[in-house]
Amino acid sequence: MKMKISVASGKGGTGKTFFSVNFYYTLKDEFKSAIVDLDVEEPNVNIFIKAEKLSAEISYLTIPKNIKEKCILCGKCSEYCEFNAIFVSSDKWYLFPELCKGCTACIKLCPNDALIYGKKEHGIIRWDNSGFMEGILKIREPIAVPLIENVKKKSLEIFKDYELIIYDSPPGVTCPAISSIKNSDFTILVAEPTPFGFNDFKLTYEAIKDFNIPFGVVINKDGIGTNELENFCKDKSIPILCRIPHDKAIAELYSNGKILVKEDKTYKKYFLDCFNNIKKYLEK
Ligand code: SF4
Ligand code: SF4
Repeated sequence: MKMKISVASGKGGTGKTFFSVNFYYTLKDEFKSAIVDLDVEEPNVNIFIKAEKLSAEISYLTIPKNIKEKCILCGKCSEYCEFNAIFVSSDKWYLFPELCKGCTACIKLCPNDALIYGKKEHGIIRWDNSGFMEGILKIREPIAVPLIENVKKKSLEIFKDYELIIYDSPPGVTCPAISSIKNSDFTILVAEPTPFGFNDFKLTYEAIKDFNIPFGVVINKDGIGTNELENFCKDKSIPILCRIPHDKAIAELYSNGKILVKEDKTYKKYFLDCFNNIKKYLEK
C-alpha cells in the first residue's frame, strides 16, 4: 500500500488538526505513516506531535531576474504575468517579488531571453525521522501555494518508503487548500453539524467536487446542531466515514494539547472506522 490522504475543512476550528493527529497516531502502529502539516501560515501539528531535533532546509521560490543589457522593454512579460508582478516603463523593468507566484511563464516567454531564473527565500521545511514534516511561511510572505507545493514534493522524497502520508491542509476553500489536496488518493473533509459548519461544508463541497479526488466526510462533534449535513451527504452520495461524538472529555484533552488515542486507546475505533471506510470506498 502507498496512500496519500489529505485532511481538509471548510473553516478553521472544526477539529481538522485534532482529527489528522489522532488519525496518524492510530494508523502509525499498523502502517509506516507520516503526517505533513501543510497549513504553512499557521502550522500547529507539532504542538501535539512535539517533534524535536528537526532537520530543516530553506524553501525557495523561482522568480525572474532581468538582464538589463538584453531587455528591449517590449512589455510582453508584464502582459503574460497574470499576477501583475512585473511593470515595464519606457526606461526600466520592475519586479514586485511579493506578487510573483513563481510560475516562470515570463522567463519562458520573453522573446529576447532577457529573463533568467532567480530565487527568493519564502519559507522553511522541517522534518524528523519519525514521520513528521511541516512548512513554515516566512513572515510577510503573502503567497502560500509555492511553499505548500515544495513541502509536498519534499515529503514524497523524505517519506518515499512510507505506506501512508497524511496531509493536514490549511482551512478554507482558497488556492492553498486546493493545492494541498491536489494529487491525494483521498480527501477527508472534517465538518461540524452546526448551521455555520454546514454552510462552510457546502462551499468546500462546491470547490472540490470537480477535482476528481474521492472524498468523504467526518462528522465531528456529532450530536450537536441539525441533520442538514447528514441529509446533504445522503442526497449527494457522499460517504460519511465516521462520527466523533460531542464529548466533554474529548474537548478537554484536545484543549490541553493531548492526543486522544494516546490517552485512551478505546477512541481509536473512530479513526480506524474512518480508514476502513476509505479503503472500502477505494476498493469498490
Ligand atoms: S519580455 Fe523580455 S525583453 Fe520584453 S520587457 Fe520583458 S524582459 Fe524585457
Ligand atoms: S514568474 Fe510568473 S508570477 Fe512571477 S513574475 Fe513571472 S509570470 Fe509573473
